Amino acid sequence: MNYIDLITKLPFSTYILKVKITDKIDIIDLNILKHENFTGFEINEITPKLLEKNLNPVLKQFNKNLEYIKNQKIIAFSHQFTTKKNNIVFLKEILKLIEKKENTYTFLGIAFDISKEKEYSQIYETLISSPHIGLLIYKNKIIFASNKTKKIFDIDDRIYKLSPLDVFPEYIKHKIKPNIEKRLNGEFFNTYYELELPSFNQKRIFVKFFASTIIYEGSYAGAVLVIDTTNEYKKTQMLQIINNINNTIKLTFVNNRLNIDLFLNETIKAIKSSNFFHNIRLLKKNLKNDFEIKNNPHRKYKSSALFPIYVNGKIYANIKIFSIYKNDFDKTTTKTLKEINNTLNLSIQSIIDIQTLKILKTSVENSYQWIIITNEKGEIIYANDTVEKISGYNISFLLGKNPKIFKSGFHNDDFYKNMWQTILKGKPFEAVFINKSKEGKIFYLKSKIIPVKFHNKTFFLSLAMDITNERLLQNQLSDIKFKDTLTNLLNRYGFVIKASETIIQYKSNYALFVIDLKDFAAVNEIKGHKFGDILLMEFAEFLKDIFYKTDIIARIGNDEFCVFLTYKEIKSLYSVINKFLEHIKDKKFNNFTVSINIGIAVLPNDATNIEELLEKGYIALKSAKQKGENVFEFYNPSISENLETFIKIKEILTNALINNELEFFFQPYVRSENLEFGACECLLRINHNNKTILPFMFIDYAEKSGMIKEIEIIMANKLVNNIKKLNFNYSLNISGISLKDETHINKIIDITKQYSKNIIIEITERELIDNIEYTIKIFEKFKNNGYKIAIDDFGTGYSSLIYIKNIPADFIKIDINFIKNITNSEKDLAIVDTIINFAKKLKIKTIAEGVETINQVLILQKLGCDYLQGFYFSKPLPFEDLKKLLKKS
Ligand code: C2E
Ligand code: CA
Ligand code: CA
Repeated sequence: MNYIDLITKLPFSTYILKVKITDKIDIIDLNILKHENFTGFEINEITPKLLEKNLNPVLKQFNKNLEYIKNQKIIAFSHQFTTKKNNIVFLKEILKLIEKKENTYTFLGIAFDISKEKEYSQIYETLISSPHIGLLIYKNKIIFASNKTKKIFDIDDRIYKLSPLDVFPEYIKHKIKPNIEKRLNGEFFNTYYELELPSFNQKRIFVKFFASTIIYEGSYAGAVLVIDTTNEYKKTQMLQIINNINNTIKLTFVNNRLNIDLFLNETIKAIKSSNFFHNIRLLKKNLKNDFEIKNNPHRKYKSSALFPIYVNGKIYANIKIFSIYKNDFDKTTTKTLKEINNTLNLSIQSIIDIQTLKILKTSVENSYQWIIITNEKGEIIYANDTVEKISGYNISFLLGKNPKIFKSGFHNDDFYKNMWQTILKGKPFEAVFINKSKEGKIFYLKSKIIPVKFHNKTFFLSLAMDITNERLLQNQLSDIKFKDTLTNLLNRYGFVIKASETIIQYKSNYALFVIDLKDFAAVNEIKGHKFGDILLMEFAEFLKDIFYKTDIIARIGNDEFCVFLTYKEIKSLYSVINKFLEHIKDKKFNNFTVSINIGIAVLPNDATNIEELLEKGYIALKSAKQKGENVFEFYNPSISENLETFIKIKEILTNALINNELEFFFQPYVRSENLEFGACECLLRINHNNKTILPFMFIDYAEKSGMIKEIEIIMANKLVNNIKKLNFNYSLNISGISLKDETHINKIIDITKQYSKNIIIEITERELIDNIEYTIKIFEKFKNNGYKIAIDDFGTGYSSLIYIKNIPADFIKIDINFIKNITNSEKDLAIVDTIINFAKKLKIKTIAEGVETINQVLILQKLGCDYLQGFYFSKPLPFEDLKKLLKKS
């Protein structure tokens, strides 16, 4: 290949250009020798005109310097050229003068495309003039730094005195050094750093470096793009600090470390831990009230921020934060620190609030005062330990309950009404409450109930002192208030209090005797007051002798005494009265016989409190007085009647035997499966003066007097007559007393044997255990004669179920007391269930007594009880009624 060939292969256009230079340059002729298509125009399309148009800016430039152009042998320039497709290319032209005639110049020119180079240089230009990214080029020294780089580094041309290693902080230099060396030795690689620069001018600078290897001015160099990220860095650091502080706050509250100094120290640790600031101090002296930024270019720490810590609105401390950089507390940092300052002060206030609350709570909890808070519904939402101590109720039990639980019944309804009226008006209510503890003990509370409004809701704060001991002491001291000085008995007032307390503490039946000394006024008049006083004193002693120590005896009027006592059954009251009347007849008081009247009222039947009971007692006394001397009267006449009957029962029973007043009522009972009548129980009655007297009035006496046997013989005969008239199954009750007499039992068997198949003998469970062998023997006797046996009142006699195994019983009658509660007592239900199951195993039939409701029927059916007896099916009926009933069904 020769050189010409070579040249024609190179990417140049070559041409001959003729121009005329007068006062300006004009293109006269263009002759293209070799055409490279840089512009998209074909060779013939490139006219002098097209050329001139594209060279216009250059020509304008040349026209200003015509003299210079005229004297040049070679002219080189670059210019833009608009392509056929309207793009822009950059061309470089080199013209060599080959002929000059007058003002006509002929050049040999070559043109080549320099668009690529132009583009690169433009990118480079952009880069070095960028207001955002700095460019830095280094070899052994920094050899180029764009203005932005200088600005970021906060340094002027002194930058060119630095070696590349100088821009890295000390701690990382050993790592960077080999990289720089590698680059300058021609290794191509990229690196990226994010770091804080050593300060060139006391300013905090944080940058991102993107470095690569380039060839620059003939040798290897490092090119670094520098981005200033100081603000972003500060922001993330501030966030970190806020986070740390929030954590500290959280831990402080979660772990209950509610101490302000401790909290401040922890806070300082939290700020320190970010390592952003260079020192931080808690100041307690020369305190400043306001947030403050300071710059001190000559000190070690060039800038500082100080903020105030307040406790309860008073300045308590300052926190001062130092930076080695100048103006380091800029907008971002200051804003964050102010926020932190606020948060700290709020947290401290919370710590104080909680502390105060805790102290309050502890003092409330440990207070000797009784403190209860109830909500609007009256439910207890807080009670302190003292409440538990005094009332005996667990606090956890009390929560949600109503303070009614402490009610003793001592106060009447008006008392509570008054209380509610007062506190609902928003006023405090003060009073001494007489309350009852869990164990039934009375305690006195000097209370103040204060309504408190909180968030639109009303709460009731009840503050009280336990004055029980004081009260008791007071009671002892003020004997005069409670006691009658003459007889040393309680007076009326003392009586009411003591009796009231008693009824609150013990549930029982109580009777009040109001005793009046007849004609005492006259005795006083005739015999003199001294005489009367002695009489009263002796009478008081007499009462103390007659009644129990536990009975409350009082002198409630001039010649009126009262006794307050418990009793089990009315029957037993009778013996008390009787004993009393017997004694008083023979007794002389101050050598003087007195007669009395007694009015009797009972709790809970006649009254609900002591005052009322006294009233009723007086009413009863009045009617007793009308009847004569040594007469007693009950407030409730039916009790009187019963008592009369009691008193006269011996007479009535004896007469009943003589006058044939004894009769059976019959109570039928049903098969549980179909509710059809299966048998009936014979229940004894006395028909006296057209009144029916029930067994509870006389059976006891009949048994004790032995009359029961005579009665049973009579009744056995009557039963035989009944069976003759109505062929049915009858159960016959035999007393425990009778059972022990074998001859008597033989008599009954003799009388009834012919109908033994119709007869079930009922013996109460209580009678079994006394002499089990004998009982079994008697039972066998009945069984051998064809009778059936039922164990009555089963469950009350405490006999173990095991006994029953050995007894040839056909029926077990489950006692009425279990049936009564079967619908609401799980325990009774379980007992009945057990009895039925046990009986089933032994092939003994069960009869439930006292069935009164459909629910009881349903449960008992479900449990598999065989027979049901009770008012639900029928009351005990006279024989004629029984016949009618059975006919009907
Ligand atoms: P008991 O043998 O347990 O008799 C059942 C008692 O329960 C009867 O009372 C009966 O009227 C009553 N009763 C029946 N169904 C119901 C009911 O649904 N509800 C309630 N509340 N009571 C119901 P009564 O007739 O007053 O007899 C009482 C006790 O007197 C008898 O208890 C029995 O121990 C004794 N008794 C009765 N008649 C005689 C007798 O002829 N000889 C002997 N030795 N004792 C008898
Ligand atoms: Ca019975
Ligand atoms: Ca019974």
